[in-house]
Amino acid sequence: MSPAASIAQPANASAHVPRYHTAGGRAFNFNAGPSILPEEVIRTFQEDMWNFRGSGLGILEHSHRDKWFDELLFETIDLVRKVGSIPKNYHVLFMTGGSSSQNFIVPYNLLPKGRTADYIDTDFWSSRSIDDARQFGVPVHVAFTGKSEKYTRVPAPSEITFSDNPAYVHFTSNNTIYGTQFRSEPTPPSNGAYLVCDACSDIFSRPIDFTKYGLVYASVQKNLGITGATLVVVRDDLVQNSNADVPRMLQYRTMVKEESRPNTPPHFAIYSASVMMRWILAQGGLPAIEKRNHEKAGVIYAALDASGGFYRPHAEKNSRSVMNITFRLANEDLETRFLNDASSAGLMGMKGHRATGGCRVSIYNAFPIEGCRALAEFMGDFARKNG
Ligand SMILES: *Cc1c(COP(=O)(O)O)cnc(C)c1O
Repeated sequence: MSPAASIAQPANASAHVPRYHTAGGRAFNFNAGPSILPEEVIRTFQEDMWNFRGSGLGILEHSHRDKWFDELLFETIDLVRKVGSIPKNYHVLFMTGGSSSQNFIVPYNLLPKGRTADYIDTDFWSSRSIDDARQFGVPVHVAFTGKSEKYTRVPAPSEITFSDNPAYVHFTSNNTIYGTQFRSEPTPPSNGAYLVCDACSDIFSRPIDFTKYGLVYASVQKNLGITGATLVVVRDDLVQNSNADVPRMLQYRTMVKEESRPNTPPHFAIYSASVMMRWILAQGGLPAIEKRNHEKAGVIYAALDASGGFYRPHAEKNSRSVMNITFRLANEDLETRFLNDASSAGLMGMKGHRATGGCRVSIYNAFPIEGCRALAEFMGDFARKNG
């Protein structure tokens, strides 16, 4: 055996040809994150892993301080700014630790001593943000919780009760696990409180007005590329006034000063975001992406609604997410059969989160409408056979 062969992946013995496949001959990927990448983006990764921009080295092997990476980093930041129309007084940072670590990094940096922070609880992830903030010692005020209703919807503005003088209002724009989504952002009380948004699973799925936010964070692995980095967009005055007694590696101030590389950054994840940003621009930018996402989700919700109760959507209609669609079938056995049959038909990754069970269909920006049509057809066939 040659040395190259000895480290190759084991061959897949199955010769099964699935009913559905993408234009590139792969399965449709409904995973919630890490998740689908556009096929042309993966092809670009392949080339750049071998020889990045004629440098003679692959991107994975470049130093994070050489001129190629310098160029790439600033280009990526410019591309993120361009895609998101991010105003000049906001910083674009790449951090590590995932969206999850922002649960304590945000209050550590931004919450002045003695101030309260308000949280809107609409999902597993927002309730995790609350738990982590409390554990960190943050005086948390829960301004709304959908827990007793099993997180089937997001609140109307009149249902949100803010505390007297919160420093910020935290909310999760898209609820990845229960499949609900805010149509527009909540309005914080008008005493200087700003919005902090966990936009992990719907960032750049639609236009976003950053001027309404103090800070927005999103792990790269859902709509922006691969896992390993977290995009943080933060207003400059908040960084200027941030707490000083924060360990260097966790300070937004350090990240600004050191251009997101106070140590070795997750450079392939940052690179992946640059390719994804080019892809988004080639699709026509966020207005075009938003339109496509509504069409895609519409195809699947129509199939759910036409099933006469065979599929049972979790979210209330006016809170439905266009990124993550969740539903159940009559019982767990039927769900298991549905997921297995779908998987062998080439529709992969629809098992619900362990917190909810059931099925979850994630159709991030990269997911093609052909896959939504394939799923709708499959759902109809499966319901007829098993209804
Ligand atoms: C996936 C997700 C997270 C967790 O992201 P990590 O990168 O794994 O920390 C947090 N919030 C939301 C809304 C998510 O979808």
